[in-house]
Amino acid sequence: MKYDCIVIGKGPAGITAAIYLKRYGYTPLVLAKDGGALERVSDIENYYGIPHITGPELLKAGVEQASGLGIRIVEEEVLDLTKEEHFLVTTNAATYEAKTVVLACGTSRNRYAKADAFEGVSYCATCDGFFYRKKKIALIGNGNYMAHECSVLENICKDITIFTDGLPLEAEVSPTIPVVLDSIEKINGDGKIQSIEAGGKTYPIDGAFIAIGKASGFTLAKHLGIELNGSNIVVDSTYMTNIDGLFSCGDSIGGLLQVSKAVGEGANCASFISKYLKKNNL
Ligand SMILES: Cc1cc2nc3c(=O)[nH]c(=O)nc-3n(C[C@H](O)[C@H](O)[C@H](O)COP(=O)(O)OP(=O)(O)OC[C@H]3O[C@@H](n4cnc5c(N)ncnc54)[C@H](O)[C@@H]3O)c2cc1C
Repeated sequence: MKYDCIVIGKGPAGITAAIYLKRYGYTPLVLAKDGGALERVSDIENYYGIPHITGPELLKAGVEQASGLGIRIVEEEVLDLTKEEHFLVTTNAATYEAKTVVLACGTSRNRYAKADAFEGVSYCATCDGFFYRKKKIALIGNGNYMAHECSVLENICKDITIFTDGLPLEAEVSPTIPVVLDSIEKINGDGKIQSIEAGGKTYPIDGAFIAIGKASGFTLAKHLGIELNGSNIVVDSTYMTNIDGLFSCGDSIGGLLQVSKAVGEGANCASFISKYLKKNNL
């Protein structure tokens, strides 16, 4: 079967895109390896009309809404993406064919086991930076995602130190921000994180932001030669990448990493895909 659209990702961006495509009369397939960022969100208190909800609750509601409309959602990891006449999406279990593809892969916010046991550890600068204004913070990471989080934190926090945990610094950050290249030997705290030991020195901190790893759409983008800005997928005003028929929205394209933006972009992206399918008689 050839799908009108394969949506990679079942987060707010992917599920919204699939729901709108279905409403326009198309047949989308959603492929997702897991629940994405929402699986790790304990409280969302800034989404329109919902004063308080947990990430897993919001994720479940979205997936059930889409399934209820008859949208097929398959739990598989996408490993490769190629384009011949149409797109071929290869997962750990099968290969699917589609006329268009949406990368709604989110951004990678890998867990950092050494710090997970402590309070005062955040995986989201936009969400939690405010709580650390005028405080001393550690930012752990070494790539483009770390640099993005750093640019958010720089406007809020007084005192930032980057820890690459033994990895080379692979992204540009402001030269005024100290970078510790040594491996992290120990993280200390009494419930709440208090200091980091690296290179034989102890660095006192009030909180830590984790920004390790790469955007999950990054590797797939590389496979097809999709234009990237750092680790963000570059799209035009119709959410199409430099590859004809390949779209992207949500955290994958950068900007504000929030549910409201992901939902809005998923809806817009579906509208442009509908126009694209009609215009090309697909
Ligand atoms: C700790 C934390 C707290 C947050 N707090 C808030 C908050 O308070 N308010 C707020 O608005 N936002 C918050 N966010 C951000 C919010 O969760 C994200 O902006 C939002 O989920 C982005 O939606 P998305 O659909 O673009 O990506 P995601 O929700 O990340 O979904 C990505 C999807 O892509 C799939 N995927 C990726 N790669 C592959 C692959 N190779 N194969 C198959 N599937 C793949 C994943 O499995 C997942 O289903 C928080 C995030 C974190 C981590």
